[in-house]
Amino acid sequence: MIRHRSASNISGLRRLICDLAPSDVYYSSAYYENPEVDMDKKGWQGADLVFDIDADHIPNSCDKAHDEWTCKTCGFGGTGAQPACCPKCNGEKFDTKTWPCERCVGSAKHETKKLIDMLEKDFGLSESDFRVFFSGHRGYHVHVETASIRTLDSMARKEMVDYITGQGLNLARREKASPDGASARRVFGLREFGRYARLKNDIREFIEAASKESLANAGIKGASATAILQFKKQVLERCVEKGMWNSVRGVGDETWFRIAAYLTNLQISIIDTVVTTDVHRLIRMEGTLHGKSGFLKVEFPLNRLADFDPFREAVAFKEGRAKVIVSSAPQFRLGEATFGPYTRQEVELPTAAAILLVCKGRAEVIES
Ligand SMILES: [Zn+2]
Ligand SMILES: [Zn+2]
Repeated sequence: MIRHRSASNISGLRRLICDLAPSDVYYSSAYYENPEVDMDKKGWQGADLVFDIDADHIPNSCDKAHDEWTCKTCGFGGTGAQPACCPKCNGEKFDTKTWPCERCVGSAKHETKKLIDMLEKDFGLSESDFRVFFSGHRGYHVHVETASIRTLDSMARKEMVDYITGQGLNLARREKASPDGASARRVFGLREFGRYARLKNDIREFIEAASKESLANAGIKGASATAILQFKKQVLERCVEKGMWNSVRGVGDETWFRIAAYLTNLQISIIDTVVTTDVHRLIRMEGTLHGKSGFLKVEFPLNRLADFDPFREAVAFKEGRAKVIVSSAPQFRLGEATFGPYTRQEVELPTAAAILLVCKGRAEVIES
């Protein structure tokens, strides 16, 4: 890592990058009076608000098909997401092999959509406040560079993170002692503001559209499900609108806690919480290559989020071919072309495909 560099214009920055030819380029989200001096003398003036949505943090069923991990201490390994510690030796350091799979990157896009919806509707930011990027690997970055957010400290950013990830919600209006006096029972209740108001809205829509299947998805079956479907109008008018959550027979506190937890889980966005709360964060620079893929970090307009195709639009190398020996790779697509799967074989590929495999540690270039 070479740090504490600055350039006063774009040509100076270009020269700096060309001289070093690094595998990855980052810039600081912070604004400093003196960017080149020691951290404690830089003079922090503020920082952009940055969100990092990475497939590494989102559980996907395809993880097992394309991800591998090996314990650095004992060499034990497996497929899928790496465990917190090695089941054999309790070691905590791993070598991991992940893959920028379409489905995983798609799940990151879905989380990004939910994040932006909350930032717009609940935090009052508008479309012009966001810059949206494909990260160059397995996710998306959302930058807010608006002057009014720059001086938010770490604690304020943590509050935003908690809101976005659904932490600290208190859905119990009060505790009530059970008839036998042995244990307290939680009574469901919703406050009228912020995330609670959003949740109430979701509950209303969920009940309006409720079917046997949708209720089962939320874990509501049997008598409770029957009661909701049979007395939908009363449930909406009395429970949801008037907050008399216990006023329809068969639809009790536990049913509401369950529905609320289910809807909250659908609503929250899985972001990298450490990135957002850090006010000195180093972030990959737009227009540079990601060292783990050879893809570009690219910006695109927010209204293109739904149809943005990273496997076409973030491809940097568009010409030439290269011969490689591939150890293993799942099937993948770049633009219109599909490649693989490969197991221990020699292939000639377009440069972008060869670079992706080499960057992922799955292939080596054959000298010609
Ligand atoms: Zn181990
Ligand atoms: Zn995947």
